[in-house]
Amino acid sequence: ETVSPLPEATRILTVSNQKGGVGKTTTTVNLASALARRGARVLVIDLDPQGNASTALGVPHRPEVTSVYDVLLGDSGLADALQPTTDHENLWCVPSTINLAGAEIELVSLVAREQRLRTALQAFLAESEDTYHYVFIDCPPSLGLLTVNAFVAADEVLIPIQCEYYALEGLSQLLGNIQLIQKHLNPDLSISTILLTMYDARTNLAQEVASEVRAHFPDQVLGAVIPRSVRISEAPSYGQTVHAYDGASIGALAYLEAAAEMAERGAKVDSSTERQN
Ligand code: ADP
Ligand code: MG
Repeated sequence: ETVSPLPEATRILTVSNQKGGVGKTTTTVNLASALARRGARVLVIDLDPQGNASTALGVPHRPEVTSVYDVLLGDSGLADALQPTTDHENLWCVPSTINLAGAEIELVSLVAREQRLRTALQAFLAESEDTYHYVFIDCPPSLGLLTVNAFVAADEVLIPIQCEYYALEGLSQLLGNIQLIQKHLNPDLSISTILLTMYDARTNLAQEVASEVRAHFPDQVLGAVIPRSVRISEAPSYGQTVHAYDGASIGALAYLEAAAEMAERGAKVDSSTERQN
């Protein structure tokens, strides 16, 4: 088994894009699983009330399960919500439950409402006897307090982009929001990684969108692209990542390639989103 170059400090990535259905959750679980399979210890925090990441990792997330909701409200530490996954012994998950849907509103009246995930995660990482090499936070497709908590907790933003006509449209709004977060809440946040997903090499449109994104973000876009693949879309209904479901499929190999590239590049980035607007 290949062992990644492991990062010296924990890399905390939020997987964000205000568009729904662009592959945020799919990318979160399959990249996390790929890195775990390359020898890293990886934690996935499911911050979407839909709980799709928890489902794909085979982690229970019934309403009574201790979840990221309890962590955000301060009723549990992150360690209490941590669960092993059936996917890989190196891969852990803090599930979301449907309770999280109300959290956007419940958080409003709490002190330090934007910092709650960061505080809980930092306390967990400091207390944990085990090293975590990567933390991935799967975000809902909106800029509410949940997503803001993810931006404040993370050092890196990973943006999955679906290679279709309107791909770049929502992006400038996302960049604007990231700049606001950098200015007011988390100066250390940077866009480290952009991953092209659901790529169909047979269409001119996909190639055009891909080259446009690469021209705008030459340092961030991974060389690896994720093809549209039935195996990738089937895996979650079995409560599996694509690596567990069909590890030899092109989709699994593409995520392994993306993971290797991420590990080799490290967290180096250009923190000014200014230039890219
Ligand atoms: P998001 O989290 O951004 O809403 P998802 O990761 O849930 O997006 O993906 C949206 C849908 O597209 C899901 O049904 C998922 O299975 C499917 N999907 C994601 N990536 C691929 C891919 N590379 N090939 C085929 N289907 C995909
Ligand atoms: Mg999702």
